Amino acid sequence: MDGTFPIDSLRCIQDHPERGSCSGAVISADNVLVCQTCGFRYPVVRGVPVFRSERWQFTDTWFEEMYAGRSRITELESTYLVGERRFMAEFAEERGLEGPCLEIGCGTGLFAETVPQYIGLEYSLESLFARGFESFDRLCGDARSLPLADESMECVFSFNTLEHVAELEQAFEEIHRVLKPGGALVLKPAWHCTRYVTELIPVLPYRELNARQKIVKALLPLIRSKPYKMLTRVPWRIQRWLTQRPNNPLSWGRLTPYHGEAWVADADAASSIDCHESILYFTSRGYQCHSHPTTLRQLLAGHDIVVLEKPARDGSRFPQRDSVDPPVMALIQNS
Ligand SMILES: [Zn+2]
Repeated sequence: MDGTFPIDSLRCIQDHPERGSCSGAVISADNVLVCQTCGFRYPVVRGVPVFRSERWQFTDTWFEEMYAGRSRITELESTYLVGERRFMAEFAEERGLEGPCLEIGCGTGLFAETVPQYIGLEYSLESLFARGFESFDRLCGDARSLPLADESMECVFSFNTLEHVAELEQAFEEIHRVLKPGGALVLKPAWHCTRYVTELIPVLPYRELNARQKIVKALLPLIRSKPYKMLTRVPWRIQRWLTQRPNNPLSWGRLTPYHGEAWVADADAASSIDCHESILYFTSRGYQCHSHPTTLRQLLAGHDIVVLEKPARDGSRFPQRDSVDPPVMALIQNS
């Protein structure tokens, strides 16, 4: 294993029937990692520590096949996530990030050079073996059980990944746990994935659909229109915002991912995440939302990158939550 790995931040993810979560410190010994508390040994495969939890049963290996034999060098030349990569590099520069910076769902590590002290976490072991990714700190693990100590990361970021995580609230809890006070969070999953896409309704012919799906297909031009989305989303968001409480629970939708032959964007999503709801989850825990600083902008959030900042421990670093915007009050009064 690379000597620069921030080994102090690793922690055990085992659950014990009588004691609950172990969370013991994990240290390196003879090419395995050993928990100092429960003695569990985590394998290190080709330089990658493997932290797969038994708690989240994993049966689907379709993406291991998909990721096998990939090259980071080739993928870096593509335009995939190129704007997002530039965004992270500028963000790290502007904020003067020092790290460690954790990427959740790093794939073949396209963001590895954009932030200092990069750690790439990915469920697919094959993608971590990608050519050209060997010299970076990589972890095979699950967003729902991060193998990292509490408050150990200066920045956590994730692009196009969280929509693949079922039990989404668990992943959010873990992000909140590992972020340092004053740490930065950058989120950009595929927001608002839908059941009609995972059911392939837009691409399947009518004869292959049941009665409900046929109706949905006929209504797609309406369902996909911006006014319809806003009319269905915004009242719900206002209601969520009005009834929020400290440490607001996350509301999200479970989807059945499609892993078949046809390629349809986001048909492989396991959860539907609302951008405003995600912001609310963190602002109700004291975070400052830098990307959407006013309540109105949060309520109207679309498919945006969300930037949040965890409150510093003394609570004095950031101002209190925004007060209610007058336009939002008008919206509420008219609804
Ligand atoms: Zn342990």
